[in-house]
Amino acid sequence: MEPPLLARMHPDSLAVHAGRDDLRRLGVHALPIDLSTTYPFESLDEAVGSLDAMMAGGGPAERGGPIYSRLHSPTVARFEDGLAALEGADASVAFGSGMAALTAVVQAAIWDGNRHVVGVKPIYGTTDRLVSSGVLGTEVAWTDQGGVASSMRPDTGLVMIETPVNPTLDLVDIEAVVQAAGDVPVVVDSTFATPVLQQPLAHGAAFVMHSATKFIGGHGDVLAGVVACSHELAARLRQVRILTGAILHPQGAYLLHRGLATLPLRVRRSQETATTLAERLSEHPGVGAVYHPSVPGRDPQGLVGTQMSGPGPMLSFEVLGLEGESDGDGAFAAADGFLRSVRLATPAVSLGSTDTLVQHPAGLTQRVASGDAPGKITAGLVRVSVGLEDADDLWHDFERAIETGRRG
Ligand code: PLP
Repeated sequence: MEPPLLARMHPDSLAVHAGRDDLRRLGVHALPIDLSTTYPFESLDEAVGSLDAMMAGGGPAERGGPIYSRLHSPTVARFEDGLAALEGADASVAFGSGMAALTAVVQAAIWDGNRHVVGVKPIYGTTDRLVSSGVLGTEVAWTDQGGVASSMRPDTGLVMIETPVNPTLDLVDIEAVVQAAGDVPVVVDSTFATPVLQQPLAHGAAFVMHSATKFIGGHGDVLAGVVACSHELAARLRQVRILTGAILHPQGAYLLHRGLATLPLRVRRSQETATTLAERLSEHPGVGAVYHPSVPGRDPQGLVGTQMSGPGPMLSFEVLGLEGESDGDGAFAAADGFLRSVRLATPAVSLGSTDTLVQHPAGLTQRVASGDAPGKITAGLVRVSVGLEDADDLWHDFERAIETGRRG
């Protein structure tokens, strides 16, 4: 028998078509938005059947309908189907932000009582704080990739990693961590890679999570999160979402789904420009370390080409102080000067937008992390989310801002 059409498609085709199966039946071409909060039911029996199915983590029963949009939204579900196809997952579950998505993963994983979490650092500062603060009742052991096996305990319920890592762009070997974790589920924050460049489930991860606010949304106008996983884990995540109400609004889901169609094009174009910029920055005398997996020596495990199909659209680099220092007050002033001097790029946190964003990890995104910042996150370090502008235009902006910024 011929496999279903979507199963045979290249990811670029999936990005355009996945999650749109019902459009012809509905007689529409563009994605519809259903803003209903409640849904009429025909009979109480059918409504009860549907409610029970959703409380158990499934979709609505055909005849009972969605009942209430905290339980199910057809618009959100369409986006979830599209994203799951891109990740090669059974299912995905969307949330109101990346942090809401991660929270749901932790809650689902520790539900049975195993509250110990092993995390690989560095990791996004708020993720660090989420599990370190104890707000979800977790106890955390932070380690590096090689320390996962020895950090595991009988009550470990979840292992958390991010790759590429924020903001140093180191790559973590997913398969090595999965092996070290044994039976314990591993969640991979794949926000910087997107499903275009990396599919963690194929490497044994139980959950892949994205801050969809970033490249998946792609235009800086939706805050959202999404987790792709097996049917069984998705059922658990939906149960958590019904109880906590951490839902994604249908308007946001519509924008994310619309954005999926151009995700491969956007990511590959930004990746190409990031590689060009990393090469030119590496040769600039006012720049110290450049972090991008394309830079020689920055992918010691050889994961580009195996785990990740390319080096990605994010990079970081150190603006050196006038004495050539990468840390301390002089470096801070140089980085600050750079951020004040860029004209084409925008000094702002977040990433994955059509335009280039530059920010200061030590001062902003890693500030909320627990403990000391790892040595690489120096005062001169600037992180760049490369947008869709012309590479030469961006380089001229950066070159001028490095000169001006260092002079103060
Ligand atoms: N994970 C990473 C790698 C991030 O960069 C962010 C946000 O910057 C998050 C998670 C959190 O996502 P959100 O801001 O959508 O809650």
